[in-house]
Amino acid sequence: MSRSPSPVALPVFEPGTVWLVGAGPGDPGLLTLLAAHALGQADDIVHDALVDERILALAAPDAVLHFVGKRGGVPSPKQSEITARLIDLARAGRRVLRLKGGDPFVFGRGAEEALALAEAAVPFRVVPGVTAGVGGLAYAGIPATARDTNSAVTFVTGHGADGALPGGLDWDALAKGSPVLVFYMGLKHLPQIVERLIAAGRDPMTPAAAVANATTRAQQVVTAPLVELSAALAAAGLKPPAIVVVGEVVDLRTVILAGMTA
Ligand code: SAH
Repeated sequence: MSRSPSPVALPVFEPGTVWLVGAGPGDPGLLTLLAAHALGQADDIVHDALVDERILALAAPDAVLHFVGKRGGVPSPKQSEITARLIDLARAGRRVLRLKGGDPFVFGRGAEEALALAEAAVPFRVVPGVTAGVGGLAYAGIPATARDTNSAVTFVTGHGADGALPGGLDWDALAKGSPVLVFYMGLKHLPQIVERLIAAGRDPMTPAAAVANATTRAQQVVTAPLVELSAALAAAGLKPPAIVVVGEVVDLRTVILAGMTA
């Protein structure tokens, strides 16, 4: 990894600090300058499964990689163990990069980590990333908003802390009040999500799509009317990670995609 100076003045990654950084949805080209800078400077990189291998390849050769995701059915370390590791490494004087897929503060438990670091008085910086629900859709030719279709967009998690569909969602409000819905972690409970939306009054023929492995070489996009989405995904064998989007913006895809270069 070259350590040539960046044309932009970037902050020094001080020993004894943690940088909580979003790596974007996959394509290394979507890294921020700050994220790329941190990758080249970090002593320790604590990352989970959603961080693309091509991004980890940008780490300095002597950096220590700590994988804290789920792999091969082996559960990931507990959140408390991850934060304890960040704190211990920082207190040992290391430059600690906590690298997360997408944006660290969008359904990524980055808030919990920032709170724990603040409580432990470990200095940290937060570097936002391109979130999958915006950047992932864009690579599929689906804009999160378009002037003629929606003046609001709602991000929803389909997976609560206990693994079930989150209990606190107002399905009437989602179905009737939000022209575009973007679900993270929505595949597992998709049949229930679709059922609730339609029961709450959403038109079953609303355009919908799922984008799996967005912005990577394995990106896969399936579109179908809302009521048919679960069956279409099953037929295509679409697997997580995927973003599910419901709303008229999905129909813009055909025209946008036709004009997009690969
Ligand atoms: N912090 C991340 C989200 C973490 S939650 C972000 O801002 O993007 C994990 C969920 O994010 C996945 O279940 C999936 O819904 C979505 N996701 C993350 N990366 C993705 C990708 N490359 N393609 C599709 N969905 C992705």
